[in-house]
Amino acid sequence: MPDSMSYEEESLPYVEGLRCRECGHPYPAEALHFCEWCFGPLEVVYDYEAIRKVVSPERIAAGPSSIWRYADLLPASAEGAVSLGAGFTPLVRADRLAAELGLGELWIKNDTVNPTGSFKDRVVSVALTKAQELGFKVAAAASTGNLANSVAAHAAHAGMESVVFIPADLEAGKVVTTAVFGGKLVAIDGNYDDVNRLCAEIAGERPSWAFVNVNVRTYYAEGSKTLAFEIAEQLGWEAPDHVVVPVASGSQLTKVAKGFKELELVGLIDSADSRISGAQAAGCSPIAAAFDAGWDAVKPVKPDTIAKSLAIGNPADGPYALDAVRESGGTFGSVSDEEIVEGIRLLARTEGIFAETAGGVTIATLAQLAASGAIRPDERVVAIVSGNGLKTIEAVAPHCGPTAVIPPTLDAFAEAVELPSEVF
Ligand SMILES: [Zn+2]
Repeated sequence: MPDSMSYEEESLPYVEGLRCRECGHPYPAEALHFCEWCFGPLEVVYDYEAIRKVVSPERIAAGPSSIWRYADLLPASAEGAVSLGAGFTPLVRADRLAAELGLGELWIKNDTVNPTGSFKDRVVSVALTKAQELGFKVAAAASTGNLANSVAAHAAHAGMESVVFIPADLEAGKVVTTAVFGGKLVAIDGNYDDVNRLCAEIAGERPSWAFVNVNVRTYYAEGSKTLAFEIAEQLGWEAPDHVVVPVASGSQLTKVAKGFKELELVGLIDSADSRISGAQAAGCSPIAAAFDAGWDAVKPVKPDTIAKSLAIGNPADGPYALDAVRESGGTFGSVSDEEIVEGIRLLARTEGIFAETAGGVTIATLAQLAASGAIRPDERVVAIVSGNGLKTIEAVAPHCGPTAVIPPTLDAFAEAVELPSEVF
């Protein structure tokens, strides 16, 4: 643990401490991430009654246009936040996509426009802010790519050292966009689960490093709640009927569910009764498989999918994601690589949003669940598109190129390009 553990209690008046998610044992809000009694993961505990007394739509609207507008419900202080402006991304009404899928009111939570192009900026901004409060000097992470981008960028911005570990076979668009920030980038000859295992060992050897998704995970994960906070605020302080969430470790989904519940607890929304459904790639769908089989535990798999940002075969929050989906009345879908590519293209073609492969998983699953009737036309639906397509152009490059390549003459153009008559 770092030497200087001093941060001011009064800067976080609403954080009561941590609690084991399994046995309920309480802990102080320090650099802890698992229970000494049962090894269960720890969860941040807030004083919701106290928050309820101060929080209001007006107070939030007066805050910054970032995740830090919800600082009352976050485990780190907005003052001195490590922020590149993550969050408060557009919620885009998607009527053309809805019409294609036979749905009614559909919205896309467009997290492709975060500072490093994915929702990970939310969790990393919280994690590195907390890491600094706790006195850590080095930011580290095991990543499938997006987290690597975000940790390297936020660490650069904060003047922290960073050490990021990735599988060696990642898309070029995620390697270059991490390395450019100048931290240490270590490519491991193995898959994400191998990288994660190694990082757990390194974290044990280097207690002064803040591994955002290992020893700071309890705080880091809280950043995903802001997706739910923003969706509700952008819908006029109402929870949607149905949310479709991409699932890798399962953390984002469980935190979206927690976020809506917290808004109800503090009186910002009337009821948090959204159905929450998870989207996985068929080539790595251990949580969807457990859901279909009616299991409480998740059987690890060896990932084989183009959706590398979701390729976690042994998902840390799998059982909690299962609980959250079952409790909400939602479901899981899983989609093939071909469907993922088609999902990316469908979203781009209908709504002008270019998602990475994880977004293709979300949209293809949305289509699957709409077709099966699991998502209904009378529901107000939000699909979370969590990362930018520029990072994974390999997935769609074989299908996307110029409409025509012609010499620079009017005749060649007239011959090559047919447009609907009404555009002339
Ligand atoms: Zn415990």
